[in-house]
Amino acid sequence: MSFPGCVSGLVCVRCGRRRARGLDGPCATCGPEGVLEIEFDLKKGSAFMEYVWKVADGLASAFGLICLFLAGFLIVITIIVATLRRRHE
Ligand SMILES: [Zn+2]
Repeated sequence: MSFPGCVSGLVCVRCGRRRARGLDGPCATCGPEGVLEIEFDLKKGSAFMEYVWKVADGLASAFGLICLFLAGFLIVITIIVATLRRRHE
């Protein structure tokens, strides 16, 4: 299997050997103690994170708009209900 763009490979925490691919198990040299850590390509990773932040920003402003809309909607509903109750009394 291959990794997404921001992940450059796997590094054994014991011997530091790199593996370009494969999440099939621990380091072949060290055995079970050779836990593999995911190594990130920071340049590609930062570009990826910028994209994530852009998307999150867009979502946040959209969410803010929805919240404002809901708040306005609730106020209008409350006014309408209050007005209708007064007419019935
Ligand atoms: Zn190792």
